[in-house]
This record gives sequence, structure tokens and C-alpha cells, in this order.
Amino acid sequence: MKFLLMVKSVVKNLVRGPVTERYPFVPKKFFKGTRGQVLIEIKKCIFCGLCQRKCPSQAIVVTKDKKNWEIDRLRCVSCAACVDVCPVKCLAMDTKYAPCSDKRYKDAFNA
Ligand code: SF4
Ligand code: SF4
Repeated sequence: MKFLLMVKSVVKNLVRGPVTERYPFVPKKFFKGTRGQVLIEIKKCIFCGLCQRKCPSQAIVVTKDKKNWEIDRLRCVSCAACVDVCPVKCLAMDTKYAPCSDKRYKDAFNA
């Protein structure tokens, strides 16, 4: 009886194919509401620094006098706290993740 159950399980797994995704060879499908990377419309930013203060992982650095906004995407946990707190609504969560990279980097991502 146990042998038959095992054969049934083996055949089922052979027929249905792999349950894992073949990323990056097969592009990932994103759904509405996916929290991907943070986007900024830099022209609307007033460099108030609220997003930096609210960020739980210290991923954002705002330099008011230099009018500079930077994000370390390897620190970001996609919580969207910065998006919620921005008074001028210049931040948004993209439904795509930041592209793969083989090195640590900081960038200002201007949408
Ligand atoms: S909260 Fe908004 S306006 Fe203020 S620094 Fe951050 S992105 Fe710019
Ligand atoms: S989404 Fe969250 S972790 Fe990422 S930068 Fe905004 S506040 Fe920080």
C-alpha cells in the first residue's frame, strides 16, 4: 500500500513539472500592489527629510543644503513608510524590484 502511494506521488511530481520559478530566465510576474522599489519625482521633493527620519532601516539620506536625495536599495525593506509620510507625495512604490547587481551601490533614482 505504501509502495503504491509512493509511486502515485512520484508520477504526480513527474507530470506537473517544477514548482519553483526559473528566475531570472523567466521574468517574474508582478501583481497590483507589489511593493517593489521606491521611486521619487525629484522635481517635487522639498528635501524636508521626513522620509529619512521615518525610514526604519536608514536607507534614505537627504542633504537639504545640497538638494540631494539618496537611497541605499540594499537597506530598503519596502515598508512604504517613506511614501506614506512624504508631504508632497513625490515618493511611490514601484511594482518592480530594483534590478540585480553584483556590487553594493547607492543611487538617486529619479523617476
Ligand atoms: S519626505 Fe518627500 S519631500 Fe521630504 S525629503 Fe523625503 S521625498 Fe523629499
Ligand atoms: S520603503 Fe521603508 S525601508 Fe524602504 S526607503 Fe522607504 S521607509 Fe525606508
